[in-house]
Amino acid sequence: MLWRAQLIACAYRYDQVPPHHLPEVVMVGRSNVGKSSLINAMIGQRLAKVSKTPGKTRSVNFFEVQGDPPFVLVDLPGYGFAARSGGELELWRRLIERYFRSSRVSLVLQLVDFRHGFLKNDRQMEEYLAGLQIPVGVVFTKLDKVSGSRRKSALDAYVKEGFRCSIGPFLVSSETKEGLGDLKSGLSLWLKE
Ligand code: GDP
Repeated sequence: MLWRAQLIACAYRYDQVPPHHLPEVVMVGRSNVGKSSLINAMIGQRLAKVSKTPGKTRSVNFFEVQGDPPFVLVDLPGYGFAARSGGELELWRRLIERYFRSSRVSLVLQLVDFRHGFLKNDRQMEEYLAGLQIPVGVVFTKLDKVSGSRRKSALDAYVKEGFRCSIGPFLVSSETKEGLGDLKSGLSLWLKE
């Protein structure tokens, strides 16, 4: 199942958010969680920038995806970065808050590093989304970094700690492509409902 996609907008301010009539699926996660790599792996193209320096993506990027059904995938800047000025952080916070309150969002995919599970700012994001009653799909990333024998116990431990999740959790690796098919079909099913 190949999804073609094109970048339709990069927004630094809310008035740059593009008008369209498709459902929006938003990806959020800590900087360096593997969000850009996952976007590229899902759409089989190098559209999102992969970086070794956390916190590089500052704009909100909108990709129109020719999936089944079509939708708009929204790439939010990663959270949990420190090297950013107060003024810039404030602008970012205002854009994100306004965006999430706009009722455009069908689903948020919350990316969490499978090696670490939910860290403090992942919990803050979880709580924030719960407050807005936005449905969330949890995607654990970098599955290949956890050996096969440790995967079940890691997942069991995260499930036991608890997290809010309308679909998933999905376990994926952009490196080996494991779990990508399940994520894409889960997403398609959700969007068709
Ligand atoms: P972002 O900041 O969340 O967009 O993260 P990136 O996609 O830029 O990835 C951050 C780093 O993690 C890069 O060095 C990637 O090569 C690496 N990475 C991302 N996904 C995976 C994965 O599934 N497996 C492994 N081993 N490395 C990954």
